[in-house]
Amino acid sequence: MKITSMAEMPVSIRVEMRSAGLDWSEMTSSLVAIESDVIRNGRPLVGYAFNSVGRYACGEAMRSRFFPRVMSAEPGSLLDASGSNFSAEKVLNHLMLREKAGGHAERSVAIGTIEVAMWDLIAKVEGKPLWAVLNERFGGKDDRLKIPAYVGGGWYRPNDSLERLKDEMRQNLDLGYRMMKVKVGGVPLDQDIPRVEAALSVLDSGTQLAVDANGKFNKQSSLAYADALAPYGLAWYEEPTDPADYALMREVAQHYPHPIGVGENLHSTQDTVNLGLYAGLRPTFDYIQIDPPQCYGIGTLVRSVEALEKQGWSRKQFWPHGGNMMNLHMIIGLGLGGAEAFNDVFGPFAGFADDVRVEDGFLSLPETPGIGFESQPDLFHLFQKVLPTSQR
Ligand code: MG
Repeated sequence: MKITSMAEMPVSIRVEMRSAGLDWSEMTSSLVAIESDVIRNGRPLVGYAFNSVGRYACGEAMRSRFFPRVMSAEPGSLLDASGSNFSAEKVLNHLMLREKAGGHAERSVAIGTIEVAMWDLIAKVEGKPLWAVLNERFGGKDDRLKIPAYVGGGWYRPNDSLERLKDEMRQNLDLGYRMMKVKVGGVPLDQDIPRVEAALSVLDSGTQLAVDANGKFNKQSSLAYADALAPYGLAWYEEPTDPADYALMREVAQHYPHPIGVGENLHSTQDTVNLGLYAGLRPTFDYIQIDPPQCYGIGTLVRSVEALEKQGWSRKQFWPHGGNMMNLHMIIGLGLGGAEAFNDVFGPFAGFADDVRVEDGFLSLPETPGIGFESQPDLFHLFQKVLPTSQR
C-alpha cells in the first residue's frame, strides 16, 4: 500500500471585489491530488484538497520539498499501526522533516492542504464520509443531523450600492440561509453603517448578521467601529484588530459588549494557545475561526481545539473560516459550532457537494465517501486535471 503520485495545480479565483484587507484581482488557490495504489471500482483511490480561499497558490514549496519528502519515504512508514490505511500523522511528520521551529505561515498552507488531501484518501480507503472517520478517531460529534451555517459575503463590489447588497442578502435567504456576514472597514465608518443597516433591513434580527473588518483596523478605528456597531447586537465583530495584536484585541473585547470572531490567521497550535491566553477572549462567548487547510491541516486543528478546551473553550465556539466541504466535514466530525458558506463568489469553489442541502439556515450531512468533491461537479472537473493526463 503506497502513494504513487502527488501533484498540485494552481487555479485562478479572481473576483472583482474587495474587503478592508485585500482585493481579489490576483487571487489563486492550489489544488492537490494524491494518488494511491489502492484500487476501488477498477481505479486507484485519489485524495483531493485545495488551500481554501484568501491565501495564494503555494505549489512551488510543495514540489520543491514537501512532495519529495513523502514520495521518498519508505511506503510502510506512512501507514497506520494496522497497516491497512495511511496515517496522516506520519505523513505530516515527513512533511515537517528539516523544518525549523516557528515560521509557520510560510509552510502551513502548503502542508495543510497536503494533509487534508491525505484525510480524503484515508476516508476513501475506509469507504466512509470524512466526518465519520474523524468522529471515530477524535470524538466530539453530537447527535446533530444538521449544521448551522452562515454566508460569508458582503464584499465591496465595483459600482456597489445598498440595493445590490440587499439583493445579495435576499438571494442568500432564497437559497435557505438565515445568517450572513458583510465586510466593514473598506469605506469610512459613516458609509459602512448604512451598509450594515441595509443588510439588517432584509433580516429579522441583529444576531443574523456578522461583520468582518479583516484585521485592518488600528486602535482608533477598531474602537470607533465597536461603539458604532454595539447597538445592533450583531452575531460577531470579526478581526477588529491586526490578527497578532492581542493587546489591542483584549482592549476591544473589554470595550465591545457582543461577541468577537477571530482565528483565520492562526497557523499553528502555539498561535492558538497564545490567542486564548493573551487576547482577552471569552471561551463561552467569542468565536474561533481557524481555517484547517491553512493551519497544517486536520491533525493540527484537533490539537488546537483540544488546547483551547483546556482553557475552558467549548467546541461550539469554533466556526472555521472557509465555506467548503473540507471544513464542513471537520465541523460535523469534531462537533464544532457551525460553517461558513460561499454563494455566488469563487466560481467552482462556491457552495457544497450536491448531497448537502440547505434548509432554514442549516446544512445536511454529506454521505459521499471521503470529502466528496466528486459530488461537486464543477470543482471536481478541475481536480481531474491535477494529475498528469496519463494517470487520469
Ligand atoms: Mg474573515
